[in-house]
Amino acid sequence: MTEGTPVGEDSASDALPEGAVDVVVIGGGGAGLNGALMLARSRRSVVVIDSGSPRNAPAEAVHGLLALDGTPPSEVLRRGREQVRQYGGRVVHDEVVSAEPAAPSADGDLRFSVTLADGRSITARRILVATGLTDVLPEVPGLAEHWGHSVVHCPYCHGWEVRDEPIGVLATGPASIG
Ligand SMILES: Cc1cc2nc3c(=O)[nH]c(=O)nc-3n(C[C@H](O)[C@H](O)[C@H](O)COP(=O)(O)OP(=O)(O)OC[C@H]3O[C@@H](n4cnc5c(N)ncnc54)[C@H](O)[C@@H]3O)c2cc1C
Repeated sequence: MTEGTPVGEDSASDALPEGAVDVVVIGGGGAGLNGALMLARSRRSVVVIDSGSPRNAPAEAVHGLLALDGTPPSEVLRRGREQVRQYGGRVVHDEVVSAEPAAPSADGDLRFSVTLADGRSITARRILVATGLTDVLPEVPGLAEHWGHSVVHCPYCHGWEVRDEPIGVLATGPASIG
């Protein structure tokens, strides 16, 4: 996977629409795509801009998500993009570098100007920010290589996969004991 290409098989990027859209969704992980799905189904014009680095990319499968438990993250996102597109939403592969207030419409409604890394820009009535989190891993030798596999971040997501095995806990705060 190259940076800027969302994980999944549908690597084509949609065209950026001309003119203003109702909503630009910044981030096309599960949160952004689900928001886009609801907006598109509400007949809003919606464009998802995604830089293609979902937090759970290292994991082999998503767990605890009803009906999709065990599905690779890339497949969940591929299906999500497909569903957003079914309702007219667009998914553009790029990174948003700025989102700023623009001159309001004649009737005073808000407008935002969203600029992408490749220099293109788009105007939106509203912005939904769903950029997720970036894990900053501690500098423990070997940890980064095993992140998402034998080093897991969440007992609810991956506790079952390491059940009955000896575990070590990297405690970073009082809640770690729990
Ligand atoms: C290894 C691992 C395994 C996990 N497994 C599970 C699991 O099994 N079950 C579970 O419920 N949760 C799991 N999680 C938590 C999981 O990360 C979240 O549930 C889910 O990914 C959050 O979705 P999100 O859309 O908020 O963020 P993300 O999935 O991180 O998506 C954010 C998206 O926004 C994009 N983005 C960021 N900045 C910009 C920008 N400026 N312009 C354009 N795009 C941008 C990113 O590239 C990314 O594609 C796991 C986390 C990790 C680290």
